[in-house]
Amino acid sequence: MREGSVEPDRDPLRRERERMVNEQILRRGIRDVRVLEAIREVPRHRFVPEADRGAAYDDGPLPVGYQQTISQPYIVAYMTEMLQLSSGDRVLEIGTGTGYQTAVLAKLAAEVYTVEIVEPLGSAARMLLQQLGYRNIHFKIGNGWNAWPEAAPFDKVIVTAVAPEVPPALIDQLKDGGRLVMPVGSQVQELIEGVKRHGILEKTRQIPVRFVPLISPGEEKE
Ligand code: SAH
Repeated sequence: MREGSVEPDRDPLRRERERMVNEQILRRGIRDVRVLEAIREVPRHRFVPEADRGAAYDDGPLPVGYQQTISQPYIVAYMTEMLQLSSGDRVLEIGTGTGYQTAVLAKLAAEVYTVEIVEPLGSAARMLLQQLGYRNIHFKIGNGWNAWPEAAPFDKVIVTAVAPEVPPALIDQLKDGGRLVMPVGSQVQELIEGVKRHGILEKTRQIPVRFVPLISPGEEKE
């Protein structure tokens, strides 16, 4: 059976997703219909730990082990909308985590390349996304600071962990005209929207956010 082919009124979780979209996402101003449709379809409860399934459609992030979190649904929608994805896009995602954001991206783009540094998280996400039938996601375990040179260049880049600055490799591996979305800062974090023009990333600051840190290559060796 195809994901999302269940009749809406026979699937209580689909109703919960509809409520999540209406109350948390539409109400806060997300208008891209493709993004809203993708969020209606991806079964978020499958991406949260079994014990927290009841909170899967709540308005906040949730812990998923290894000191990591699955982002608040609204933030996933906001970042996805900012990317302005086209169906032909090749997207790089740093920070697979549970794979929830990855699934949303995979519904809207041609190919998604996702990198996770915590092996058990990356492997669990790969298994789940394969089980759910996604065939356009490429997985890598490693430090996303260096991006994914073998698969570059990318039309879009999304980072779901915070760093003091945008790692230079991510800018190098973004196509000219491509977009990047990432939280930047330390004590105070803001979502940055970047567009690459003539080799330079032109950045605009968006909303304040709270993300877990992007592990830098230096920290990893400590
Ligand atoms: N998008 C995820 C949430 C990610 S939380 C979701 O929807 O579930 C941030 C993730 O980034 C964590 O899983 C963390 O392990 C990973 N991460 C942190 N630093 C990283 C790095 N340098 N390279 C790749 N992944 C990293």
